[in-house]
Amino acid sequence: MSYTIHGIAVANGIAIGRAHLFSHSSIEVTHYTIKEEQIDQEIVRFKDAIADARDELETLQANIPDNAPTEFSAFLQLHLMILNDGTLSNEPTNLIRHQQCNAEWALRLQMEQLIEQFQLIEDPYLRERQADVVQVVERILKALTGKKSAAMPTWDKDEEIILVAHDLGPADMLVFKNQAFQAFITDMGGATSHTAILARGLSIPSVVALHHAWHIIKEGELLIIDGTCGVVIVNPDETVLTEYRVKQEQWNEQKKKLKKLRLTPAKSLDNEEILLLANIESPQDMDTVKKSGALGVGLYRTEFLFMNRITTPGEEEQFKAYRKVVESMKGQPIIIRTLDIGADKPIDSLSTGHTLNPALGLRAVRYCLSEPHLFKIQLRAILRVSQFGDVHCLIPMISSNHEVNQTMAIIHQAKKELLEEGIAFNQHLPVGAMIEVPAAALALPLILDSLDFISIGTNDLIQYTLAIDRSDDAVAHLYNPAHPAILSLLANTIAFANSTNKPVSVCGEMAGDPRFTRLLLGMGLKEFSMHPAHIPEIKQIILNTDIEKTKKITKKILKTYDFEKINALISELNQH
Ligand code: PEP
Ligand code: MG
Repeated sequence: MSYTIHGIAVANGIAIGRAHLFSHSSIEVTHYTIKEEQIDQEIVRFKDAIADARDELETLQANIPDNAPTEFSAFLQLHLMILNDGTLSNEPTNLIRHQQCNAEWALRLQMEQLIEQFQLIEDPYLRERQADVVQVVERILKALTGKKSAAMPTWDKDEEIILVAHDLGPADMLVFKNQAFQAFITDMGGATSHTAILARGLSIPSVVALHHAWHIIKEGELLIIDGTCGVVIVNPDETVLTEYRVKQEQWNEQKKKLKKLRLTPAKSLDNEEILLLANIESPQDMDTVKKSGALGVGLYRTEFLFMNRITTPGEEEQFKAYRKVVESMKGQPIIIRTLDIGADKPIDSLSTGHTLNPALGLRAVRYCLSEPHLFKIQLRAILRVSQFGDVHCLIPMISSNHEVNQTMAIIHQAKKELLEEGIAFNQHLPVGAMIEVPAAALALPLILDSLDFISIGTNDLIQYTLAIDRSDDAVAHLYNPAHPAILSLLANTIAFANSTNKPVSVCGEMAGDPRFTRLLLGMGLKEFSMHPAHIPEIKQIILNTDIEKTKKITKKILKTYDFEKINALISELNQH
């Protein structure tokens, strides 16, 4: 049966391929329908897994060490009881036989049923026993993994693979950077979650906030991913497939054409030169940066060097990574942002503490100031690479002058040490702040004096101004970059920085969104930093824009409060 699911478009393009269900949790399982002739075999597979799990538990029970706590035996006994009780094992057999579910899926469905019943129990001790049911299920699932199913769908090696996940963290995305997926989709996330930002970095179509796609889609099903409209079509018919193959072709052609603009200067019709810079996560991104025609790196998110590892990188390792980026830009500007840990970018080796609201907790510069030793190591590495190119240092999540002063004091200390050690660095390393907390935007005159430049992080500025978690799919529809409050903060920040002649750029996702290019130009923005894949398209808009002419309509937009009118005026601005 063919059906369509709608989510949030994250990275443009169209992909056609087979679903591959991904999960980190041992309790999330792939589900697929088995054929009638495979039913008996699948039931045997399930029963064998139950027998294996039982053997494992009995062996454990027979070998309990003398010094083991007494609860250990009781706990094993309880697990054996759950396993032997038909409630857990009989129903999946029925589901395999009558619904033709694969064994893992059938077991998972029965577990959900049981958990629902447990949740109705009033006695808290008994209610908590649901955790034991889950543990027994995990044991059976592990046994099933070792018994490959003949019913598992296989597909042609030439067919493209589309990753379907309930959720993916930025650290997972880093791993996927090296794997061959055509597209990916997730149930969770918003358009500016870090996972989505990394997906843009992979330059493959993706859609997030699909809510239940992971549960509905089955392993091996044919999918069309429309990363421009945020649509996923499951089991498309031939007519739809043909239509999308044509669209895919057109999209690829358009991309090829845009690539030809690589060396063209980003000059508007009225001769204003606009600086287009790239956002990167690691030195490996430099190839893409070169191909994009970016004139520098406007945001190097260094926190990715700290992910997927158990120790933090020391000064030497950081120095080497930053140096690679600096040297490959050959004198062009590189803005290195200090560690932006926390919120949706947890780092295993560093704890930001348990907090109910991580986005409002010990994040970014707040964390670094609470760990001055760690902060100084990074600042020393940045200072040391400043001798090799046009390096700038950018501090994330600044909300007050106090934080700027504290940071400057640590930079001063790092410089003093390097001088004493006879290590070369740029004494005048420019230091800037991300403007991504509304307080910083509103109190800009108090902050800007001590800074050399600013960069507006619209992803967080929108999150904090509108009180909408940027990675929460439940409120993703409310995340509105064109909200009058956002437009006013943006326009005022750009105008104030311009009036003081301090460089200002936008490095959040808005900078790479073609819908807002003319509006930002109309506000007086001259520096945009975005994922390299967006640079050609944004450049093309700049080449076709008379900036002076955009100013009148931009002023009108800034005086409008009605969402629909704002959208209509933005569309008018973007015509021709
Ligand atoms: C932003 O908040 O807009 C930004 C560029 O920083 P990050 O997305 O890394 O939080
Ligand atoms: Mg940010």
